[in-house]
Amino acid sequence: IDLGLKYFYKATDGTEVENPKFLRKSERKLKRLQRRVSKKQKGSKHRRKAINRLGRQHLKVSRQRKDWAVKQARALVMSSDLIAYENLQVRNMVRNHHLAKSISDAAWSLFVDWVKYYAQIFGKVQQPVPPQNTTIGCFDCKQPVQKTLSTRTHVCPHCGSVRCRDENAAWNILEKGLRLAGLSTAGHVGIEASGQNDHYLSQAIDLDKSAG
Ligand SMILES: [Zn+2]
Repeated sequence: IDLGLKYFYKATDGTEVENPKFLRKSERKLKRLQRRVSKKQKGSKHRRKAINRLGRQHLKVSRQRKDWAVKQARALVMSSDLIAYENLQVRNMVRNHHLAKSISDAAWSLFVDWVKYYAQIFGKVQQPVPPQNTTIGCFDCKQPVQKTLSTRTHVCPHCGSVRCRDENAAWNILEKGLRLAGLSTAGHVGIEASGQNDHYLSQAIDLDKSAG
């Protein structure tokens, strides 16, 4: 999967999960309540009341975010055998204020924590991968193709590959994940002949084919 800003994530099979709009709405309300607290006189009864309301809204937003992340993580793990995702330094990215809103909304780190949890429970493989070159690299020919944040389609001048930006990234991430999990596409090193791994094997073969 590619964790993104346009989508919450996009998977190699084309599945896309949107960012939840209800969170943005709840957070707008949070800001309004915050402003109300700062307008009230310190030590007053009205201020205490406003603080109480703010606290309750904080709790509501964090519950909503958690419930949503848990639900998405469970659904993804249940429908997959291996989940590869970028090991993003979410905290570092949040410091970049342009991205902060979407990233905190997106609740990536919460989601990833629950993916790890459910993968363990259901005996699936989850594999973090380093994020370098997953967006820039062309999945088909491996050449770098520069993009800005607003470039939505990956168009490769080297091999002619045309893919959705996030899907190209998701395939790069899957390829890295398979390699790191010991399910390398090169020579299929480490693939055991068990039923559970048949799916990885067929994916690895597909990767070989599409990599040409
Ligand atoms: Zn290419």
